[in-house]
Amino acid sequence: MNIKLKSLTKSLWVFHFASAPCNNCDIEILDALTPKYDLERFGILLVGSIRHADVLLVTGMITHKGAERLKRLYEQAPKPCLVVAVGSCACSKSIFKDSYNAAGPVDGIVPVSAYIPGCPPKPEAMIMGVVKLVKSLTGK
Ligand code: SF4
Repeated sequence: MNIKLKSLTKSLWVFHFASAPCNNCDIEILDALTPKYDLERFGILLVGSIRHADVLLVTGMITHKGAERLKRLYEQAPKPCLVVAVGSCACSKSIFKDSYNAAGPVDGIVPVSAYIPGCPPKPEAMIMGVVKLVKSLTGK
Protein backbone atom coordinates (compact mmCIF):
# COMPACT_ATOMS: atom_id res chain seq x y z
CA MET A 1 0.00 0.00 0.00
CA ASN A 2 1.41 3.43 -0.82
CA ILE A 3 2.20 5.87 2.01
CA LYS A 4 -0.67 8.26 1.22
CA LEU A 5 -3.27 5.46 1.27
CA LYS A 6 -1.79 4.07 4.50
CA SER A 7 -2.06 7.49 6.19
CA LEU A 8 -5.75 7.61 5.17
CA THR A 9 -6.45 4.63 7.41
CA LYS A 10 -5.34 6.70 10.44
CA SER A 11 -6.98 10.08 10.02
CA LEU A 12 -9.45 11.08 7.34
CA TRP A 13 -9.98 14.80 6.82
CA VAL A 14 -13.34 15.46 5.26
CA PHE A 15 -14.74 18.24 3.09
CA HIS A 16 -18.52 18.34 2.80
CA PHE A 17 -20.19 19.44 -0.44
CA ALA A 18 -23.99 19.83 -0.35
CA SER A 19 -25.57 20.01 -3.80
CA ALA A 20 -29.24 20.90 -3.45
CA PRO A 21 -30.07 18.62 -0.51
CA CYS A 22 -33.20 19.01 1.62
CA ASN A 23 -30.67 19.37 4.49
CA ASN A 24 -31.69 16.25 6.42
CA CYS A 25 -28.57 14.40 5.27
CA ASP A 26 -26.44 17.38 6.33
CA ILE A 27 -28.02 17.46 9.77
CA GLU A 28 -27.34 13.73 10.20
CA ILE A 29 -23.68 14.35 9.25
CA LEU A 30 -23.50 17.03 11.95
CA ASP A 31 -25.15 14.59 14.35
CA ALA A 32 -22.44 12.00 13.58
CA LEU A 33 -19.81 14.60 14.53
CA THR A 34 -21.40 15.48 17.89
CA PRO A 35 -19.99 13.95 21.10
CA LYS A 36 -22.82 11.37 21.11
CA TYR A 37 -21.53 9.55 18.00
CA ASP A 38 -18.08 11.18 18.01
CA LEU A 39 -16.64 10.44 14.56
CA GLU A 40 -13.54 12.35 15.68
CA ARG A 41 -12.50 9.34 17.75
CA PHE A 42 -11.54 7.75 14.41
CA GLY A 43 -9.42 10.82 13.58
CA ILE A 44 -12.12 12.14 11.25
CA LEU A 45 -12.16 15.92 11.03
CA LEU A 46 -14.34 18.29 9.01
CA VAL A 47 -12.14 20.81 7.15
CA GLY A 48 -13.03 24.07 5.41
CA SER A 49 -10.99 23.58 2.23
CA ILE A 50 -10.96 20.77 -0.31
CA ARG A 51 -7.20 21.34 -0.63
CA HIS A 52 -6.76 19.97 2.92
CA ALA A 53 -9.17 17.04 2.51
CA ASP A 54 -8.73 13.31 1.96
CA VAL A 55 -12.44 12.68 1.57
CA LEU A 56 -15.07 14.53 -0.43
CA LEU A 57 -18.45 13.92 1.21
CA VAL A 58 -21.35 14.68 -1.13
CA THR A 59 -25.02 15.07 -0.19
CA GLY A 60 -28.10 15.97 -2.17
CA MET A 61 -29.32 15.82 -5.72
CA ILE A 62 -26.60 16.81 -8.18
CA THR A 63 -28.00 19.63 -10.28
CA HIS A 64 -26.34 20.82 -13.50
CA LYS A 65 -24.83 23.78 -11.60
CA GLY A 66 -23.80 21.46 -8.75
CA ALA A 67 -22.15 19.04 -11.19
CA GLU A 68 -19.78 21.77 -12.43
CA ARG A 69 -18.77 22.61 -8.87
CA LEU A 70 -18.40 18.95 -7.92
CA LYS A 71 -16.04 18.37 -10.86
CA ARG A 72 -14.01 21.45 -9.92
CA LEU A 73 -13.78 20.37 -6.26
CA TYR A 74 -12.62 16.91 -7.30
CA GLU A 75 -9.95 18.40 -9.56
CA GLN A 76 -8.70 20.64 -6.71
CA ALA A 77 -8.53 17.82 -4.15
CA PRO A 78 -5.15 16.24 -3.37
CA LYS A 79 -5.04 12.70 -4.79
CA PRO A 80 -5.99 10.06 -3.95
CA CYS A 81 -9.32 11.64 -3.06
CA LEU A 82 -11.99 9.33 -1.66
CA VAL A 83 -15.50 10.38 -2.66
CA VAL A 84 -18.37 9.28 -0.42
CA ALA A 85 -21.98 9.68 -1.57
CA VAL A 86 -24.27 10.21 1.42
CA GLY A 87 -28.03 9.72 1.07
CA SER A 88 -30.23 8.27 -1.63
CA CYS A 89 -30.22 11.49 -3.68
CA ALA A 90 -26.43 11.45 -3.99
CA CYS A 91 -26.26 7.65 -4.45
CA SER A 92 -28.99 7.24 -7.06
CA LYS A 93 -30.95 10.49 -7.65
CA SER A 94 -33.79 8.90 -5.64
CA ILE A 95 -37.10 10.76 -6.07
CA PHE A 96 -35.42 13.22 -8.47
CA LYS A 97 -34.73 10.45 -11.00
CA ASP A 98 -36.83 12.04 -13.73
CA SER A 99 -36.15 15.66 -12.81
CA TYR A 100 -35.11 17.93 -15.69
CA ASN A 101 -32.51 19.47 -13.39
CA ALA A 102 -30.80 16.27 -12.21
CA ALA A 103 -27.34 15.98 -13.76
CA GLY A 104 -26.85 12.54 -12.29
CA PRO A 105 -25.96 10.65 -9.18
CA VAL A 106 -22.49 11.46 -7.85
CA ASP A 107 -20.88 8.50 -9.64
CA GLY A 108 -22.07 9.92 -12.96
CA ILE A 109 -19.83 12.96 -12.34
CA VAL A 110 -16.79 11.75 -10.32
CA PRO A 111 -15.58 8.28 -9.19
CA VAL A 112 -17.15 7.18 -5.88
CA SER A 113 -15.35 5.10 -3.22
CA ALA A 114 -18.30 4.48 -0.88
CA TYR A 115 -22.08 4.79 -0.89
CA ILE A 116 -24.13 5.44 2.26
CA PRO A 117 -27.79 5.12 1.19
CA GLY A 118 -30.82 6.20 3.20
CA CYS A 119 -33.17 9.16 3.29
CA PRO A 120 -31.44 10.37 5.35
CA PRO A 121 -28.90 7.78 6.52
CA LYS A 122 -28.54 7.56 10.29
CA PRO A 123 -25.24 8.41 12.00
CA GLU A 124 -24.78 4.67 12.69
CA ALA A 125 -24.93 4.02 8.92
CA MET A 126 -22.32 6.73 8.35
CA ILE A 127 -20.02 5.16 10.94
CA MET A 128 -20.52 1.76 9.25
CA GLY A 129 -19.70 3.37 5.88
CA VAL A 130 -16.50 4.89 7.27
CA VAL A 131 -15.43 1.58 8.83
CA LYS A 132 -16.02 -0.22 5.49
CA LEU A 133 -14.10 2.48 3.63
CA VAL A 134 -11.09 2.17 5.97
CA LYS A 135 -11.27 -1.65 5.75
CA SER A 136 -11.27 -1.43 1.95
CA LEU A 137 -8.09 0.67 2.16
CA THR A 138 -6.34 -1.85 4.40
CA GLY A 139 -7.64 -4.81 2.37
CA LYS A 140 -9.06 -6.48 5.53
S1 SF4 B 1 -31.50 11.57 0.56
FE1 SF4 B 1 -33.39 12.23 1.54
S2 SF4 B 1 -32.69 13.36 3.34
FE2 SF4 B 1 -30.94 13.24 1.95
S3 SF4 B 1 -31.00 15.10 0.71
FE3 SF4 B 1 -32.13 13.52 -0.41
S4 SF4 B 1 -34.28 13.82 0.19
FE4 SF4 B 1 -32.99 14.89 1.71
